[in-house]
Amino acid sequence: MSLIENIIRPDVRALSAYHVGASDGFLKLDAMENPYMLPEELRVELGRRLADVALNRYPIPSYPALKAAIREKMGVPKGYDVMLGNGSDELISLLMVACARRDLNAPAIVMAPLPTFVMYAMFAQFSGMGFVGISLKPDFSLDMPAMLAAIRQHKPAIIYLAYPNNPTGNLFAEGDIVDILGAVGESGIVVVDEAYQPFAQTSFMSRLPEFENLVVMRTVSKLGLAGVRLGYMSASKALLEQFEKVRPPYNVNVLTDAAVQFALENLQVLDYQAALLRGEREKQAAALAALPGVEVFPSNANFLLLRVANAEQVFEKLLARKVLIRNVGKMHALLSNCLRVNVSTPEENKQFLDAFKMCLS
Ligand SMILES: *Cc1c(COP(=O)(O)O)cnc(C)c1O
Repeated sequence: MSLIENIIRPDVRALSAYHVGASDGFLKLDAMENPYMLPEELRVELGRRLADVALNRYPIPSYPALKAAIREKMGVPKGYDVMLGNGSDELISLLMVACARRDLNAPAIVMAPLPTFVMYAMFAQFSGMGFVGISLKPDFSLDMPAMLAAIRQHKPAIIYLAYPNNPTGNLFAEGDIVDILGAVGESGIVVVDEAYQPFAQTSFMSRLPEFENLVVMRTVSKLGLAGVRLGYMSASKALLEQFEKVRPPYNVNVLTDAAVQFALENLQVLDYQAALLRGEREKQAAALAALPGVEVFPSNANFLLLRVANAEQVFEKLLARKVLIRNVGKMHALLSNCLRVNVSTPEENKQFLDAFKMCLS
């Protein structure tokens, strides 16, 4: 016991571990995964490609081929490079490692609207940065007077804006984000986290040259490659040069490198799957909204946020039927009685809809 107390930080000891429950045999609609796999022919070809990867060699730490493919396929502006992470989770963390000044009386601040992706606050704590969360408005738009006042007061080094936001699913107003970029100016960076870009079809990537404090972050996870773990972000050369210093040189492994290059060569397949899911999202939203007592919030992502009268009970009943979604009701006051559910294949969406109807009553 004393070994633990002697060596582990009190705030870490007080945490409970990030819990991912067993999901074997469940209809799994809780993690924003793409339900489709690559088609059989492509999987066979990928297998051949991976067989030729030199597992005995370290990766080339500058990842030239993978980065070139990302720049070309993902609309990175001319003259801009990307930095790679082991998932965008790692990039979120590395940004804070780079920005956490060691000044105990005035720790550098991370700011984000709430509710949002929980990793921003978690990695802020791990890195020793302070975290300031500003409530969204009840319609989940940014509370601009509160955001601007907090920026003046706290001078955040990093602001995270998930675009679209998780778990609310909406896009913040583009003009609001531009105003935040302007208000922060030279005192901080604004990270626009576009994890759900394939479903939102709008992006700040092309606007990078307009703002020297803008960082655009993406991942291939929600596009259909959650298992390979690759995130990337683009920003000015001056910023990336600094962030690169805290990146472990071989953070992206050779299999990920090869698999993502292969996927990008066949990007039309993943784009097609995303288009199917966008279509399904509209159908599923309409079907759910037609149920009595169910509120469906507008979504630009691959999940829907729902409000019901008794979310806790509905969630438990679904679980008993082996349907796994996320109960986000306790995350924030604005989310009371809210549930988050993935959009999936037509078959799985129907399965969910049927189970959900039974559990409502
Ligand atoms: C899922 C998600 C991520 C994490 O993506 P990985 O690349 O899988 O680590 C980042 N940001 C937001 C907003 C997400 O929802």
